[in-house]
Amino acid sequence: MDTNSSYQSTLIDGFGRKVDYIRLSITDRCDFRCIYCMSEDMTFLPRDEVLSLEECARLVKIFVSLGVSKVRITGGEPLVRKNALWLFNEIGQLPGMRELVLTTNGSQLEHYAFALKRAGVRRINISLDSLDKERFRKITRVGDLDKVLRGIVAAKRAGFENIKLNAILMRGINDDEALPLTAFAIEQGLDISFIEEMPLGEVNHFRSSHFVSNQETLKLLRERYDLISSVETTGGPARYWRIPNADTKIGFISPHSHNFCESCNRVRITSKGELYLCLGQETNIDLRPLLKEHPDDNEPLKKAIMDSMKMKPEGHDFDLKRATPSVIRFMSQTGG
Ligand code: SAM
Repeated sequence: MDTNSSYQSTLIDGFGRKVDYIRLSITDRCDFRCIYCMSEDMTFLPRDEVLSLEECARLVKIFVSLGVSKVRITGGEPLVRKNALWLFNEIGQLPGMRELVLTTNGSQLEHYAFALKRAGVRRINISLDSLDKERFRKITRVGDLDKVLRGIVAAKRAGFENIKLNAILMRGINDDEALPLTAFAIEQGLDISFIEEMPLGEVNHFRSSHFVSNQETLKLLRERYDLISSVETTGGPARYWRIPNADTKIGFISPHSHNFCESCNRVRITSKGELYLCLGQETNIDLRPLLKEHPDDNEPLKKAIMDSMKMKPEGHDFDLKRATPSVIRFMSQTGG
């Protein structure tokens, strides 16, 4: 199978933005049911609709041959996918790939951290919305905080280049945790990003009444820390601040208060092979039929991917005030 592209090109969309970053969801299933991410009664894809790990690896290789240099494996919870490590080993050392990174809830890291590092994973993001055991369970509906904390210890031992915590604050639920979570990140030598909740899929709470803006969180943190604005980027939408004499970077991913679409460099692939050109829009093409119809020929897939670039929307369309979200996919389905 030829993955050396005759297109040796870069992916450029209709607005001149270079796409060099893919987020690949390898499962829509998760061992948590976070209240902002999923509804209480989720139905998951039948297993035969989910791409095989070989198909996932094939897609990653094709994207890398088209100039993609950063790949994030996500889900659902990627580490609950059986044999997920096979995929990391298969793509971890691909020439042309600058960074293989992972987003996880941390529940399986105590088992997999070292193997992931050996496979070539450079950085990991671990979601952590509360340091209070009871509250953690309420937010995740089923999660065990201690397991995640053990996962964080294992990840630190494994020696990833960077570990970042991702936290979503919700008014009346965990909005008093900005300071404790930041203090924890500093104490552990980890980065932390605060993400504003996005209206993806219909969940069981009314999002606008729980919304906490990153401007508010930043103001609160500045009362406690001498934050210095930084121009550093990790190739994603976060804007960072530094704390003097600490290793920790504090990031803010603010789809509502700071629209970052003009610098968007990424596309997402769902676990059933749909290529979404924007997290906040429905524009997508289905790569699965091409994977099936052309098992030994990558050219049709490359052409479809190249052609899809002109469909990439200029920006998302998030509005928390709408009664129902304009994007009906849950984050767990698209891959966060
Ligand atoms: N299971 C993994 C995890 O928990 O990190 C990976 C998948 S999860 C969908 C990826 C990220 O999406 C998490 O950091 C989560 O907090 C974030 N997320 C989920 N739903 C969201 C929403 N509605 N708005 C903003 N971020 C969301």
